[in-house]
Amino acid sequence: MATTTERNGTGRGLGARLRATSKVLPEHARAHNRSLVLQHLFHEGPTSRADLARATSLTRVTISDLVSVLITEGLVEELGTRPGQRVGKPAILVGLRTDAYQIVAVDLTEYGRMRGAVLSLTGEIMVRRQLDIDGRTGDELVDLLTRFVRRLVAAAVHPVIGVGVGSPGIIDLDGRVVEAPNRGWYDVPLAEILGDRMGLPVHVANDANTAALGEFTYGGGSSGMLVVTVGAGVGAGIVVDGVRLHGQGDAAGEIGHVTVVDHGECACGRVGCLETVLSVPALRRAIADKTPEDSDAALASAGRVLGVTLAPVVSALNLTEVLLSGPRDLLDGPLREAALDTIRQRTMPAINSGLQLRMAALDEDVVLAGAAVLVLSAQLGVS
Ligand SMILES: [Zn+2]
Repeated sequence: MATTTERNGTGRGLGARLRATSKVLPEHARAHNRSLVLQHLFHEGPTSRADLARATSLTRVTISDLVSVLITEGLVEELGTRPGQRVGKPAILVGLRTDAYQIVAVDLTEYGRMRGAVLSLTGEIMVRRQLDIDGRTGDELVDLLTRFVRRLVAAAVHPVIGVGVGSPGIIDLDGRVVEAPNRGWYDVPLAEILGDRMGLPVHVANDANTAALGEFTYGGGSSGMLVVTVGAGVGAGIVVDGVRLHGQGDAAGEIGHVTVVDHGECACGRVGCLETVLSVPALRRAIADKTPEDSDAALASAGRVLGVTLAPVVSALNLTEVLLSGPRDLLDGPLREAALDTIRQRTMPAINSGLQLRMAALDEDVVLAGAAVLVLSAQLGVS
């Protein structure tokens, strides 16, 4: 994640922030204030207590108390004074101790292997691991995942503040996998099981939603965007007005099984789902043994289907960006161009004039980055 390192190197903000959505009740005020402070330090870098008070609209006394607690917890440290300060008592800067804790993240998107990483709080990947799944499903896969997470936690050189997992399937806000047919998981409280076994906070979310979080926080994604993930299946994660959409059944973004053509059996038992046109296996089949020209035409045709599918979504939500995450050789060419042209033809200028359709910035690390954001957001209120 080069972008993260660069931003970190400049000492500037680390990425966009998700807007807080829930109302602040009095009993939550302290936690809310704490996350305001951490959020500011995460995005803006080292800041004086006075500037923190101004930026958060909290009193100096509240800020001083909060900073003292955060220093005791080892999350924040004093960093000396800002050079070139005007006359008077120089203000001491405080900053996040981004090296004090680490995050463990796991990406279960791929069918054949799990990918994992140990990340710094700023999203830099310090350690990478992968493990073949060897066809395991159900409880066996949960056991394998437990061993994998244990290995990652052991590879961390600082205390781990939490574990984030991006998995295919419909997953509720408590990290319970409602349904992930390819994994043989039905009603599996994955976050709770892993949390009990590891003795650490564990957060689990849908992989496409996790990808959207990663792009939004670390990849420079806009506050109105949809990330389409193209792999063994097709999914999407959506951020609107800076808020990740969950949906009533936690299934917002499930566009893979929308019927878009009148042929082609789908794994879900129906015919003509988007997945039968746009998944990686479907695209590879469509271009197999074709001349470059015919291959481009086949990819453009898939792009038009995607454009037809997304035009009403882009319009209804007034999105400014659609990001594609998956193999560049398939997605970043005739497919992407045809999808954008199709959306433009089918929407009003007010909707499409500024619309971007581009490849996701974080490439194959996008779900790992998003899984780290799950942990940051849940444990520190930072996103
Ligand atoms: Zn289907």
